[in-house]
Amino acid sequence: MRLLLVEDTPELAHSVLHFLRSEGHAVDHAPDAATAAAAMAVADYACVILDLGLPDGSGLEVLKARRKAGDRTPVLIATARDQISDRIAGLDAGADDYVVKPFDLRELSARIRANARRGQGIPETRVTVGGLEVDRAAARLWRAGDEIRLTAREWALFDALLGARGRVLPKSALEEALFTFDDAVEGNAVEVYVSRLRQKLGSEVIETRRGLGYILP
Ligand code: CA
Repeated sequence: MRLLLVEDTPELAHSVLHFLRSEGHAVDHAPDAATAAAAMAVADYACVILDLGLPDGSGLEVLKARRKAGDRTPVLIATARDQISDRIAGLDAGADDYVVKPFDLRELSARIRANARRGQGIPETRVTVGGLEVDRAAARLWRAGDEIRLTAREWALFDALLGARGRVLPKSALEEALFTFDDAVEGNAVEVYVSRLRQKLGSEVIETRRGLGYILP
């Protein structure tokens, strides 16, 4: 899924980015409040991980401004252990959840997935679609009890379609879910991944709506 990490400490940002990208997420990085506000204004993120102490201001102000603008993107604030008042202020400003630094990367990842699912209105983790049993929390799926293994990018595409189940997703929305601002995107990248998914999952699972996009019916 497409994520935004707002974090100004280079080492921490590096390790979080590395971990989340290894899980197949397309993650943008904003090292300051201005970049974070600009990125949130133009991209549709599944979840934002927001540090509060930033060099040019507070993440809290970014959050307040986005909420005021009607932005409902799930936001997970990252706060220091002793900053309980920060956590309260963040939740009051419209944050959906928080993690306490130093956080475990696997816990961060699980909280991101949970908040993204809630943001899509699909809080449950086990779903059945097109004869497939899917565990979105574990990023695994089965057909008739046999596990089908997907690469990280294949899963990212499938999960984006699953999050929009029953709605047509335009190719541009899938590109946005799969790639960051910094990725060089081949014009047919989405078609390539859809085709690989159909080979693994069965051709009927993803439908093409010509001129409109793709849908998981
Ligand atoms: Ca900071």
